[in-house]
Amino acid sequence: MPPRKPLTPSDVPRPVDTPPAEALAKVKAKPVSKALAKPAAKRKPKAPRPLEPALVDEVFTRFHEANPEPKGELEHVNPYTLLVAVVLSAQATDAGVNRATRSLFAVADTPEKMLALGEDKVREAIKTIGLFRNKAKNVIALSRTLIDEHGGEVPQDRDALERLPGVGRKTANVVLNMAFAQPTIAVDTHLFRVSNRIPLAPGKNPLAVELGLEKIVPDRFRLHAHHWLILHGRYVCKARKPDCPRCLISDICRFEPKTVI
Ligand code: SF4
Repeated sequence: MPPRKPLTPSDVPRPVDTPPAEALAKVKAKPVSKALAKPAAKRKPKAPRPLEPALVDEVFTRFHEANPEPKGELEHVNPYTLLVAVVLSAQATDAGVNRATRSLFAVADTPEKMLALGEDKVREAIKTIGLFRNKAKNVIALSRTLIDEHGGEVPQDRDALERLPGVGRKTANVVLNMAFAQPTIAVDTHLFRVSNRIPLAPGKNPLAVELGLEKIVPDRFRLHAHHWLILHGRYVCKARKPDCPRCLISDICRFEPKTVI
């Protein structure tokens, strides 16, 4: 028997399901069928353009005719109790705050009386409101600051208000508007939504909306503008389902899609 020849690599059989590299290189990539292709990202609808001045005027004219003297819904008996009520209203409903403050303000409607009542009793009185521990601390601290630095009075000045514990720009705006009739615009969640939907003064944050509204709201409507818009957002242009069929500016509003009956 002749001696066996040694095997070379070309003698070794290739597994049947492994195509030669040259063959693979020749195979052209097939185009992915359209049906399998990743759907193109949905285009965001173009933001509607803000209302022109004549339409802004018409919006506020209608709000004024429907409700000439809109009022805030936080119960209070003087600027001090208004200030406390607004501080308590952060992340809480006005109705919830009113339920807690009725008995509190009956015994403490001045900074002096609030300090005399003390933090424990304030905390107990407002325990049904969210963040009540921190808010009770702030009510006591701001009462002390009012006595020490402002003769027990609520200052009519934005900077001084914003220096009080627990008081931010929105709270200062509400107090300046409601207690001192200054034409400020306090942007809460309702007003922010409504202004962006209509749109009146669209903005990415409350300050942008506030400054935008200050530029476009006609002077004669400025004092009540924020109440009209807040009430409109709370009762008509609601967050989940705006009540467009009942809306008195639905023919002007550019929000899509509007709800239908
Ligand atoms: S029409 Fe609808 S979306 Fe526009 S402001 Fe009125 S309730 Fe809001």
